[in-house]
Amino acid sequence: MALKVYNTLNRKKELLKPINGKKINMFVCGPTVYDLSHIGHAKTYIQFDVIARYLRYKGFEVNYVQNITDIDDKIIRRGNEQGKDPIKLAHEFEKEYFADMKALGINSVTKYARATEYMNAIINQIKTLIKKDYAYETEDGVYFEIEKFSDYGKLCHQPMDQIKEGARVSINENKKSPSDFSLWKKAKPNEPSWNSPWGKGRPGWHIEDTAITETEFGPQYDLHGGGFDLIFPHHESEIAQMEAASGKKPLVQYWLHTAFLNINKEKMSKSLGNFLTIRDALKLWDEKTYRFYFASTHYRTPLDYSEEAIDQAKQGLGRINEFVRKLKVMNGKDSGAKKLVDSTLKKFEEHMDNDFDMPQAIASVYDLIREINKLDLAKKDAEIVLYFMEKIDSVLGVITFEDLSVPADIQKLANKREVARKEKDWTTADKMRDELKEKGFYIDDTPQGSVVKKL
Ligand SMILES: [Zn+2]
Repeated sequence: MALKVYNTLNRKKELLKPINGKKINMFVCGPTVYDLSHIGHAKTYIQFDVIARYLRYKGFEVNYVQNITDIDDKIIRRGNEQGKDPIKLAHEFEKEYFADMKALGINSVTKYARATEYMNAIINQIKTLIKKDYAYETEDGVYFEIEKFSDYGKLCHQPMDQIKEGARVSINENKKSPSDFSLWKKAKPNEPSWNSPWGKGRPGWHIEDTAITETEFGPQYDLHGGGFDLIFPHHESEIAQMEAASGKKPLVQYWLHTAFLNINKEKMSKSLGNFLTIRDALKLWDEKTYRFYFASTHYRTPLDYSEEAIDQAKQGLGRINEFVRKLKVMNGKDSGAKKLVDSTLKKFEEHMDNDFDMPQAIASVYDLIREINKLDLAKKDAEIVLYFMEKIDSVLGVITFEDLSVPADIQKLANKREVARKEKDWTTADKMRDELKEKGFYIDDTPQGSVVKKL
């Protein structure tokens, strides 16, 4: 089945056709590492993780690069506040970011690229832009002149006049227009800086992404993702920089944007101060519940953060895990699983192929669970369903399969107890149950048989 994605650039769902066969070069804007990440970030990165995993599931070779902004005004400010070297501070929070991503099961990124490690590429791009007369130097830096790039506004669908009018009045009188954006900032005293043809300084925010993607992918690539709030000016400016520098259009074939995470009807953000860090959130709920909460909502639908909704996700995931546990021990007589699984797989893929419609895809899995729960499947049939659950979890990354792999000696003891129970030798059965409990396991007797679980 063909996969369609909603492309912000054309504002419609389009067939995903990579530039180079089965290869997909994918870039998602990473964090500015000056503090712990909040759950708005968790939403974005979990949803792009599911997207990248599904692309691989479909047989694409995904080269997924994410940048790490490790030099920026906020980093310098925070470093100064704490009397710390800003770059050191950034790299400390980069570690914390990786720890959060690992906890949330995010493992699809091929390469994390630090801005500070692409300084040559950044400088070369700016040199090209000046040479081609798209950029100019002033007393405090180098700027991109948006007037020169007539496509400016094509991603946010705003005419140039409106953008220029909307630009904040700049106190910088050297700039030709208030909406011209910074490519290079000349260093003020005691700021981290790099040598350049324009003296010591550091890059603007937008240029790091195009320097990284040009290095990793070339001047054109397949897919760019990020939060909805990055469309303007960040992504708009990326297009201007790279298309002006290379003369090739488009920079990116498909632009995908995740909707906001709202809290009390406001966007969750650091600047508004209404945020919850991933670290704190994971004290309240387990990692997989969090992952499922975000993975089961559509990436383009704004999400209202609520504890009730997370609790619902927890219950829903519990039902899936319980189902998987049951499948492991099913040993009945019913058949017909293959047909049910085949039609569910078809529905799951149809929904995911429709711009990654995760809520509908997951709903089709619940339908399957309801149908199978009416049956007492033969072992072979149960295995077919189990294989299906493993397959879809390569995309979702939420199901707990490992709980089932209880140590061999524990399983042996549980099997012996099951024999005793069937022979109605209650004394032995109870004794073994106590023994299991001492070892940290308990028995759940279900109509389909007994299941050993961790306490
Ligand atoms: Zn970015």
